[in-house]
Amino acid sequence: MILFKRLFLPLAAILVNACAQTQDSSINFNDPRVNSLSEQQVRIFSGGHLLTMTDSSAEAMAVQMGKILALGAPDQLSQQYQGAQQINLMGNTLMPGLIETHTHLMLTATQKQWTELGPLAYKSVETMREAFKLITPNEQGRIQGIGWEVGSLELSIKEMDDIYPDNPVLVVQRGHGIWANTKAFEAAGLDRNSIAPEGSQYIKDSDGNLTGYISGQSGVFKMLGGSYPSASVKNTLETAQEAAALGFTTFADIGISNPTDFSTLIKAVESETFPVRVVGALMESYPNLEQSLTQLKNYKTEKLTFLGLKTWMDGATQGGNIDTHLHYRVPSFNKTKGPWRSQESSNALALMALRAGKGFVFHANGEQGLLSGLTAVEYALDQADQLDLNIDNFSRQAIHVSLATDSAFKKMRQLDVQPTFLLGHLYYNGDRYLDELFGDVVHEYAFRLKSAFDAGLKPSMHNDSPVTPTTPFLMMETAISRKTQSGRTLAPQETISIDQALAAYTRNAAIHFDMDDKVGTLEAGKEADFIIIDRNPLTTEVEELSEIQVLTSVMNGRTTYQRQ
Ligand SMILES: [Zn+2]
Repeated sequence: MILFKRLFLPLAAILVNACAQTQDSSINFNDPRVNSLSEQQVRIFSGGHLLTMTDSSAEAMAVQMGKILALGAPDQLSQQYQGAQQINLMGNTLMPGLIETHTHLMLTATQKQWTELGPLAYKSVETMREAFKLITPNEQGRIQGIGWEVGSLELSIKEMDDIYPDNPVLVVQRGHGIWANTKAFEAAGLDRNSIAPEGSQYIKDSDGNLTGYISGQSGVFKMLGGSYPSASVKNTLETAQEAAALGFTTFADIGISNPTDFSTLIKAVESETFPVRVVGALMESYPNLEQSLTQLKNYKTEKLTFLGLKTWMDGATQGGNIDTHLHYRVPSFNKTKGPWRSQESSNALALMALRAGKGFVFHANGEQGLLSGLTAVEYALDQADQLDLNIDNFSRQAIHVSLATDSAFKKMRQLDVQPTFLLGHLYYNGDRYLDELFGDVVHEYAFRLKSAFDAGLKPSMHNDSPVTPTTPFLMMETAISRKTQSGRTLAPQETISIDQALAAYTRNAAIHFDMDDKVGTLEAGKEADFIIIDRNPLTTEVEELSEIQVLTSVMNGRTTYQRQ
């Protein structure tokens, strides 16, 4: 008995000691102490799944000074980095931070100043009316809303006047129209006798009175006093924080249209708490485009880089103005479809980007628009060959790629043009593609991700916010299930694997932005840009991928989002 006691005591002491040691040296990934560690402190993440997006089967990752130091087995890394802070993933999954290759940070931020009233938020005019009544006037006393579509979710000018007799009311439709009350017309110096600017109409009732609806972009801008109001630094930061909460460590603004937005973006990004890297591109309408592009040739900060010039080959699929050979079911759309510009002007823009030492990214929804964009790239590359121009920084990307033919993918491979698919449309507008716009023929052409992968390309996917809401894990699910919002399948033969869907938001996306030496996979020497998610996508049922929750986002080794 005595002997047992003597033996037992030291053993208990060892056990207690071992416990104390584990408690001291390991903290959970969501412990606030993680954030207070110095940058010099080596941190080793283990105790969960590591999705490196390479062929590595590492189970632990060491991070220091904002960079990934090494990957390997937990014991091996602990041995290698003695005194490292051990961070327990608690069974969760660590993967590279997500990259959105086509979105509009500033335009999304601008819309924060407008109250959402559209069908995404309200299903009936009654609930929408209640929300409308609660809008507080902005600094100029204006009531600003967004999202009424022509049809069920809108109010008459009389209803708007009754609710807000003393404030101008402006509710923009997404894109091409706006509603205004009497005060707003007065503030703009307009009445029932005013002539609308070219390309727009002040819609009137049978007695010639204003209905409150203005159709056409020029009329929208006239009511708004020239253009959409610029986003504030605060709203830009908030939008970036929302992106970080969704798992993004790299976001984008592909279409900066004016110097005011540009300087707001720079100010926002300079803030130490700005949580994502941003890749920008200048819209073709940017003032002094060529000169501005050339000035940006060497612009590069830790968090802000520029891809190049963004232009359009055609319009919006649901707007009826894309460049396609397909027959629209809406008869008037067959009159508005077609290219937005001549081939010569597309060629000239591609060459301008190349000469300025920047990239060329072109919007193409229709399969003919896509071929025009590729022809422009081919022209610029031919010229570069003849004139011996440097093409090192001439990255090229086809944006949206809603409809495509095999020949386009072949040509993209030849010209090294990468496609980014607007998969948000498959989910949110896929039913319209099938019912209202094209019918079953569209299965052959729509969002052909598998064909792009099979052609040897590195496709990525996007939501194009504010066109569709930013929902990366839902997009991964959609790319595999091919399901629309109502559950029908669109072009099911184009389904891809989970590894391909993940690649579209990580390693492929990094290639689109020429950042694959820095981000997109977990590898030693790359930036410590990663996220911790609550389940492993590789073992999650396809229909549950959209439910994956981001628990923590880390950019440059710093926590940018922590789920409460
Ligand atoms: Zn866009």
